[in-house]
Amino acid sequence: METFDRIGVSLVIGRREGYRFWDVDGRELLDLHLNGGTFNLGHRHPRLVKALIDGVQQWDVGNHHFPSEPRSLLAEDLAALSPSGALGRVVFTPSGTEAIDVAIRSARWATGRRRILSYDCAFHGRAGLGAAAGDDKTATLFHSTDPDFTKIPFDDLQALESELEKGDVAALLCEVIPATAGFRMPDTPDYHRRAKELCERHGALFIADEVQTGLGRTGTLWAVDGFGVVPDVLVTGKGLSGGLYPIAAVLLDETASGWMEVDGWAYISTFGGSELGCVVAREVLTMCTSSETQENVRRVADLYHRGLAELAERHRTVAEIRQRGLVIAIRLHHPWGGPVLARHLFANGVWAMFCGFEPSSIQWKPGLLVDDRFVDESLERLDKALQQAAGELESDQAP
Ligand code: PLP
Repeated sequence: METFDRIGVSLVIGRREGYRFWDVDGRELLDLHLNGGTFNLGHRHPRLVKALIDGVQQWDVGNHHFPSEPRSLLAEDLAALSPSGALGRVVFTPSGTEAIDVAIRSARWATGRRRILSYDCAFHGRAGLGAAAGDDKTATLFHSTDPDFTKIPFDDLQALESELEKGDVAALLCEVIPATAGFRMPDTPDYHRRAKELCERHGALFIADEVQTGLGRTGTLWAVDGFGVVPDVLVTGKGLSGGLYPIAAVLLDETASGWMEVDGWAYISTFGGSELGCVVAREVLTMCTSSETQENVRRVADLYHRGLAELAERHRTVAEIRQRGLVIAIRLHHPWGGPVLARHLFANGVWAMFCGFEPSSIQWKPGLLVDDRFVDESLERLDKALQQAAGELESDQAP
């Protein structure tokens, strides 16, 4: 909050609908952050609102000690949609952070090892094992850094192998396209597939954190599908909730889910797999996997690809556009270009988030269902913001 005020973005969100929201004074903003993909299908999509309202006539949070119809149906859907259908067991949690916790614990159980590798530019949540796996700042603040977590550079197979060779690694926790680091894509050919092979060779599991990249955003349901990787564990959250009812999930293969046979209560949570969250999430999956949505993602990705290339050509402050489907980042030459551009976009009626671990960049995260008018409007506003920011972006002053 304090960070946003410092860069000149002061916002209290009021009304919201589709891919637009209005601040409490009634000023309209296009949502190009979507809270990390939570609103992939738009704010308060009528189909999702209906699923929730219909659901509440029959269901509630449910009792987490017993089987439940909505929970079982969602688990079946997720297992069937998992990479190669190989992750046949599902654990529900109230948040992505807690899902990461379960993923790590499952890997530790399956391997009998404690050490976790993760990328030094990744984000996995702000509590427990997820916080320990991400950027050290939060863990340090709370005196809770953890020696069982080792951070390695992204896109560096040698660094990965030299840690795996020590023989004590339970898992590589992989944020498939690190969002906070500006949606970095691996340069190494076949990077993720080769990383998975190295994990297999050294007896470690591969956990895919798809909290941001999953549910159709990259052009495939899961980003790992597009990279040709079948992980041992996959974590999804944010958009699974439809932006209406908190729910996240961990998809596990047979080995990683073995602990359930030993102690089915080893992880349970009152709100994990809340039945109302499950009915909304089933509708989310139906919508994300429909051919209309997939076709729209391809079409809109192509429109942005061309539109952003044209803007990058005209605005010499733009260094690079990174894109995979609707996972897009704009990197500026200025080391603090992200916050500067975020402020100018905000003034022009666009909310887009700068990248915390790579402040030269901004995330440009359109929804899966946006139409041509939205694409045109957002590109026009970006064009204006880049023109207005040019002076600042060409100086060497930090904002
Ligand atoms: N993993 C990634 C990649 C995320 O972006 C986030 C949240 O931003 C999390 C995990 C944690 O999810 P949650 O905020 O639901 O706890």
